[in-house]
Amino acid sequence: MPIFDQLADTVLAGTPASHADALAVLRAADDDLLPLVAAAGRLRRAHFGNTVKVNYLVNLKSGLCPEDCGYCSQRLGSGADILTYTWLKTDEAIEQATAGLRGGATRVCMVSSGRGPTDRDVERVAGLVGALKEEHPDVEVCACLGLLKDGQAERLRAAGVDAYNHNLNTAESHHDEIVTTHTYADRVETVERAQGAGLSACSGLIAGLGETDEQLVEALFALRDLGSDSIPVNFLMPFDGTPLEGTWELTPGRCLRILAMARFVCPDKEIRIAGGREMHLRSLQGLALHVANSIFLGDYLTSEGQAAEADLELIRDNGFVVLGAEEAGDEAGSHDPSIRRRGAGTALAPNA
Ligand code: SF4
Repeated sequence: MPIFDQLADTVLAGTPASHADALAVLRAADDDLLPLVAAAGRLRRAHFGNTVKVNYLVNLKSGLCPEDCGYCSQRLGSGADILTYTWLKTDEAIEQATAGLRGGATRVCMVSSGRGPTDRDVERVAGLVGALKEEHPDVEVCACLGLLKDGQAERLRAAGVDAYNHNLNTAESHHDEIVTTHTYADRVETVERAQGAGLSACSGLIAGLGETDEQLVEALFALRDLGSDSIPVNFLMPFDGTPLEGTWELTPGRCLRILAMARFVCPDKEIRIAGGREMHLRSLQGLALHVANSIFLGDYLTSEGQAAEADLELIRDNGFVVLGAEEAGDEAGSHDPSIRRRGAGTALAPNA
């Protein structure tokens, strides 16, 4: 039996993958790539069947951040030519979220740039979430507002927020190479605050930051130990005007191996193909869906994704259905995506 099939059997029988297993997945030979996807796909199907969770990002406040995360186009001193704007008005935020829901998303991710929210910011988001849930009671809301202070997670939970995103991003042993204005421990603390308040933890990583294989494995095991329920796997989009400009370390095959590693290490967790999907997986996006079970629809925070219709086709063409739609007897392709008006805060349409 091929080794990755054996590993899938072992993991399905309840024995967690080891560091050595994870490294072997990351270093799988090209000849073993399809058997690897097939084996990881068995875990994916065991836990998530043929469903794909569709998430939609709303960037509530863009750019002008005082933090110095090296990968981020919104960082302190960023020269990236991105949209910058302060808090969207509630109506506009709801309009953006509704576009994503019409496109098939079941989770809306409300994101703001910055080190962390003030209590006033938290109240603003709480009000927005309340208004959104009034219109769309079934929507799942994830907030991503940066480092949380005492009581803020509890306030968000009370307002109806379901999950909180705060990525570990990279291994503890690599963290300080990437950002200096906050610590790895700060990040862990915020995830734990969210969990303590009863919010589902969404925490993932960014690959391609100059980390070693061992550090990628370290980051994944840290996420497993932290109990992250959903794990966005971002692939670095090296924006001009950021310190990581020109950093191109990832190939489509490498991205596929990273997703497979995440699946083997955290077999029953939501593995989300996040930023950089189109750019880095390129023609392997379909194969990646056989390993991961979640994507973002349409655009990202400061960059454009492929057309939302292409995302839905990707799901359909690979034999999957949008999570939530299947219960309604819906075809994944029956949605009429109405995508974020590109440049929330401007008059421009999305994907223009
Ligand atoms: S990742 Fe968040 S905290 Fe870091 S620079 Fe970007 S917006 Fe600021």
